[in-house]
Amino acid sequence: MLEVSDLTVRYGTETALDGASLVVTDRSIHALMGPSGSGKSTMLRTIAGLEHPDGGDVRWDGTSVVDVPTHRRGFGLMFQDYALFPHRTVAGNVSFGLRMQRLDADTVRRRVESVLDLVGLPGYENRSVGTLSGGERQRVALARTLAPRPRLVLLDEPLGALDRSLREHLLIEMRSIFTKIEATVLYVTHDRDEAFTIADQVAIIRDGRVVADDTPEGLWRRPPDVWTARFIGLENLCTLAGLARLGLRPPAAEATAGAVPPEAITLSADGSKSGTVVGSHFRGGAYRVELDVGADALLVAWSPTGLESGAQQRFEIAAGSVRWFVD
Ligand code: ADP
Ligand code: MG
Repeated sequence: MLEVSDLTVRYGTETALDGASLVVTDRSIHALMGPSGSGKSTMLRTIAGLEHPDGGDVRWDGTSVVDVPTHRRGFGLMFQDYALFPHRTVAGNVSFGLRMQRLDADTVRRRVESVLDLVGLPGYENRSVGTLSGGERQRVALARTLAPRPRLVLLDEPLGALDRSLREHLLIEMRSIFTKIEATVLYVTHDRDEAFTIADQVAIIRDGRVVADDTPEGLWRRPPDVWTARFIGLENLCTLAGLARLGLRPPAAEATAGAVPPEAITLSADGSKSGTVVGSHFRGGAYRVELDVGADALLVAWSPTGLESGAQQRFEIAAGSVRWFVD
C-alpha cells in the first residue's frame, strides 16, 4: 500500500505540492486528476524518488521511502516522453530494467516473451522500434515498465500523444492488463474520461492539494464543492435564484449553489416546468439541448429529437436529484 501524507515540494519560491495526501491500496487502479500546473507530475516524481520532498512522507507498507533511491523503490514508471531507445530492438528496450536486476539471459528472454504477450505484441522481440506505430510504441513502453514486475506502477499521461480512438482502445486494454496481473497503479491525467475509464478510484488535485478522492460514480454523484463539480464536467450548475425559479429549494440554509444533472431532466409536454430552447445540437445518439429557464440559468438536457430554437419546452426534474453545494 502506498501512503502519501502531507507532501510538500517547492521549486524556489513556487510551491508545487502543498500538503498533498493520498492512499493507493494494493491491487487498485487510482487516477490522479487535475488541471495543468496543479502538481500531478511533481507528486508522481516525488513518489518515484526523482524529487525530494520539503515536507511530509511517502511510505510503502508503512515504511518511509523518501531516502531510498529511485531504482531501489521497486516502482515502475511510464511517462509520455519517456522515450524508447530508437535504435534498439523491442526486446532490447523491454529488457532494459531486467538487465539492471542482473537476471540470467534465459530468464530475461522468457520474461520479455511473456510481457510482450501480455501487451498484445507477441513475437515482436526482434522488430526495430523505428518501424512501429505510435500505439505499438506505447505498448512497448508499457511492457518495459511492467517487465521488472514493479510493486507500484506510476504513469504520467502515458497516452497523451495518441489520437482519441486509439487512446480509448489502449485505456480499456491497459485496465484489463493491470487487473490481470493484479498491479497497484497510480495513473496521472488531466482528462476526466481517461480517469473514469481506467480507475477504480479518482483523486482530484488542485493547487498542490488533494481535494477529493472517490470512485468515479461517487465523485459524479457527490462532488465535494463547486470547483470539483465544474472540473469533472458536471453541467447545470445554478445559483439559488435560478433553482428557486424552478421550484427547487435547498434542504439546508448554508447551501450557496446547486446542480441539476442533465440525466435527471425529462422533456415531456405535460412537465410542470418550462424553458425556452436556445440550442439543439446532435451529439451522436441524442441531441444536447439548452433551455433558458430565466434568472440567468441555462439548463442542458438530452432529447431524442432536435428541438426548434425559440420554442417553449416543458420538462420535469427527478425529485431529489439536485446536488447542493455550500461554497
Ligand atoms: P502538472 O503535472 O499537474 O501539470 P507540475 O507538477 O508539473 O503540474 O507542476 C506544478 C507546479 O510546479 C507548476 O506551477 C509548475 O510550473 C511548477 N514546476 C514544476 N516543475 C518545476 C521545476 N522543475 N522548476 C520550477 N517549477 C516547477
Ligand atoms: Mg504533468
